[in-house]
Amino acid sequence: MPLKAELHCHIEGAAAPELVIRQAQKYGKDTSPYIQNGSFVWHDFTSFLAAYDFSADLFRTEEDYARLADHYLTSLARDGAIYSEVFTSPDHAIRAGLSPKAYTDALGEGMLRAKAKTGIEGRMIVTGVRHVGVESIEQAARFAARCGNPLVTGFGVAGDERMGEMEDYVRAFEIAREAGLGITIHAGELTGWETVQAALDHIRPSRIGHGVRAIENPDLVRRIADEGIVLECCPGSNIALKVYESFADHPFPALQAAGCKVTLNSDDPPYFWTSLKREYDIAAEHFAMNEKALAAVTKTAIEAAFVDRKTKTALLARLNGPAR
Ligand SMILES: [Zn+2]
Repeated sequence: MPLKAELHCHIEGAAAPELVIRQAQKYGKDTSPYIQNGSFVWHDFTSFLAAYDFSADLFRTEEDYARLADHYLTSLARDGAIYSEVFTSPDHAIRAGLSPKAYTDALGEGMLRAKAKTGIEGRMIVTGVRHVGVESIEQAARFAARCGNPLVTGFGVAGDERMGEMEDYVRAFEIAREAGLGITIHAGELTGWETVQAALDHIRPSRIGHGVRAIENPDLVRRIADEGIVLECCPGSNIALKVYESFADHPFPALQAAGCKVTLNSDDPPYFWTSLKREYDIAAEHFAMNEKALAAVTKTAIEAAFVDRKTKTALLARLNGPAR
């Protein structure tokens, strides 16, 4: 089994059905409209959001969030992952009635529990949400910059790409950059190559969340390759959301062949009926990647990780170590 690393996963979207069922029992809620036969059920964007919000609402206390991070990272480690970055969302904390600080520290506590059991390293990327608005994104950046949790190492923007313009977020990203945080932004998923170009022009991230629609502009693909921008690709998510009809239509192999740095990620895994392990399996099956090629993807992810030099060196040493 190849060692794995993940850079793009939304923690609220990572709650496994069995954990959601346990939380629903705790809070006396009925999961049957949203979970059937151990899987989330949804059929369009509205029912997807309904299932997502139902589950997110079952994480309310610090212990709930610690359990969520612990559960997810432990399951990742079981599938061979040695490193995990998750997107956190202060907006979710506020909705749950927790302070962003209590929420972030609780997730960090869960990550440390998973590390104690399995050795997996975890870090957090605080995100602002586009459809909540520019002010909340700047607030999230200010929080990320001064929250003081050592596991917060990045800042990003997620949410509906069709809302707002990249220029609107320049200030938020400057706050994060000045604080020494790594920078990533969702672009080129539901919108075309233009948002990827705008992100590179205005935000100057080292990584792009998704970015696959860059394939529609060969000059842009060349720029991504030349500048060494890392793409956080999520093929299973793209198919579930019908960005592409089938894996045969997915541009992952073409981007890679053009010299772009690509990684494999699960995004909101149980909602898209995937997992990090399944993403590696998809790449093996549909993109003709052998063990060596998959190991190279993991190496790309670790090299692009928002983590201190010492930890990065230790992780790379684990990749080069004896096969398990
Ligand atoms: Zn995402």
